[in-house]
Amino acid sequence: MNKMNTKILKINKTPWHSWCTGNIAKGCAYCVQGRKLVLFITGLCPQRCFYCPVGEQKFGNDVVYANEWKLEDPNNPIELIKEAELTQAKGAGITGGDPLTNLDRCCNYIKLLKDKFGKRFHIHLYTPLKLVSKEKLQQLYNTGLDEIRFHPDLDDDSLWNRIEIAKQFNWNIGIEIPAIPGYEKKTMKLIDYIADKVSFINLNELELSDTGTKHYTLPLKGFKTKDNISYGVKGSKEMAMKILEYTRQKGLAAHFCTAKLKDSVQIRKRLQIRAKNVALPFDERTEDGTLLRCCIYLKELAPGFNYKEKLKNADRNYLLEKLIIVRKELLEFLTLTEKEIIVDINKCRLIIPRSSAKQYADKIKKYNSNLIPALVEEYPTQDGFEVEIEFL
Ligand code: SF4
Repeated sequence: MNKMNTKILKINKTPWHSWCTGNIAKGCAYCVQGRKLVLFITGLCPQRCFYCPVGEQKFGNDVVYANEWKLEDPNNPIELIKEAELTQAKGAGITGGDPLTNLDRCCNYIKLLKDKFGKRFHIHLYTPLKLVSKEKLQQLYNTGLDEIRFHPDLDDDSLWNRIEIAKQFNWNIGIEIPAIPGYEKKTMKLIDYIADKVSFINLNELELSDTGTKHYTLPLKGFKTKDNISYGVKGSKEMAMKILEYTRQKGLAAHFCTAKLKDSVQIRKRLQIRAKNVALPFDERTEDGTLLRCCIYLKELAPGFNYKEKLKNADRNYLLEKLIIVRKELLEFLTLTEKEIIVDINKCRLIIPRSSAKQYADKIKKYNSNLIPALVEEYPTQDGFEVEIEFL
């Protein structure tokens, strides 16, 4: 635990587009390598933060996501293990919602991950203070949680004393809050309170997003992005740098985590690892971790208006049977091998090497006008989000 004024710290720029005083937390060290799995454990939360980044599809719903992969059955989290393997995760960050609304699930998953990947698989958990109690923290500690990060309400200090409870256990304790312009004094007041109680504070660059939830009122309060290419809020970085100076004087380790760190370091590195593990032998991988491939869509399930919804409601068995027949026929008149025409069960389409795309596009369309070949750049994630599609 840090003691106030016992260390002389400097503010350093990190290699990951962020700034820190002292060492970054262990959970963050894995995160910047792209090796932390984001475990969204539930969308339930008793808090209503006006800057809450959780979108309306998740907020208030008891859903679980391992990175972008929605778990079919949270009581049988097979996708969680698979995602950790595909991204070669060395740890997980449990987030939500408020994870403490479903403590049993948190403990079950911590145990599952530790049993599967070993004790050194580093797990941290974020929680606001509303549901914090000694019993709950005791359970998390006994199950093996390595690091706890509290998210106190900056407008109401009545529950701040619950942070003290965590000191009864031998784990890493931190604070994680957004850097909100105009909240300098409130943030400094929190730092005065926690400086001798926690090991670190993380300040996240405040971001504007289109969450659709009622309590998300950041744009209504007049916050604007700093430029046209970033979601980062104007003034958040400047505010964070002032706070870093304050934590430096207090001898408290702090990290200002920018929107750029999340996009171009954390997510990018994770995508690169996943791409390496899920790419078909003929897929091309980009520096950003996306996949370049040629896909052949069926007319009834081609990307366009409502594609996500159509995919969700598709009669998969019927479409896959159709694709198997098409594949057989294509194998007869294209000079491609069995290994070069793949049926993609996830998105009910065929995938062929991109290098063959232009050569075969006309032939494919002439053979069957219900087939739509396209050059596709997409994420290697379970939802396979398309970055760009060029229909041929
Ligand atoms: S605690 Fe987290 S999930 Fe809950 S409202 Fe605040 S930001 Fe959103």
